[in-house]
Amino acid sequence: MRIVILGAPGSGKGTQAKLLVEHLAVPHISTGALLRNAAKRGTELGLQAKSITDKGELVPDDIMSDMIEERLGRDDVANGFILDGYPRNVAQAKSLDLMLDRLGKPVEEAIHIDVDPEQIIKRIAKRAKEEGRSDDTEVTVRNRMRVYAEQTAPVADYYAEHGLLTRVLGDGAKEEIVQRILSVLNTSAATA
Ligand code: ADP
Repeated sequence: MRIVILGAPGSGKGTQAKLLVEHLAVPHISTGALLRNAAKRGTELGLQAKSITDKGELVPDDIMSDMIEERLGRDDVANGFILDGYPRNVAQAKSLDLMLDRLGKPVEEAIHIDVDPEQIIKRIAKRAKEEGRSDDTEVTVRNRMRVYAEQTAPVADYYAEHGLLTRVLGDGAKEEIVQRILSVLNTSAATA
């Protein structure tokens, strides 16, 4: 099962990706988490990326594509993956397609988690208190929302054009939402 999870910052895509791991035997790959780990380890790339993510901007495509290519090359990806945070613009979506086509393992499903912007602001304010992520300040969150609307929302259209997109309502209990996603995956597996 090769799945891409899309959604605005704070839409809960990371949470849902983690819950999906318990149901599907494939790894969760979060580019945000990979970047935060690199920053925590203090690698040159990690520190460079942190100055960008702290502003809410996107890390350059070539850095992300190297990172994702390395990650998708590991053994645990043999049966698939749940990608969270990549692709984040149309250029990344095209580059991912090229990479996966070379392996003969294209994306099978793109799930977009739809959440109302008002809800998102509330959720991120709560997460800022709980997790203390350095990119959850108000100014940065606003910028991430703008970057999402301008660059990432078109990625959903890209997958829709390829007949791979399903939108799932991201409102309600976490377990309810994961069940919605699983039923989409079951339906498309049954019709494939
Ligand atoms: P969220 O979805 O809540 O914004 P993420 O953890 O997915 O959080 O990403 C945090 C930050 O990491 C992004 O705002 C961006 O700066 C950077 N980032 C993550 N993935 C990518 C990517 N594919 N391309 C460029 N930058 C990325």
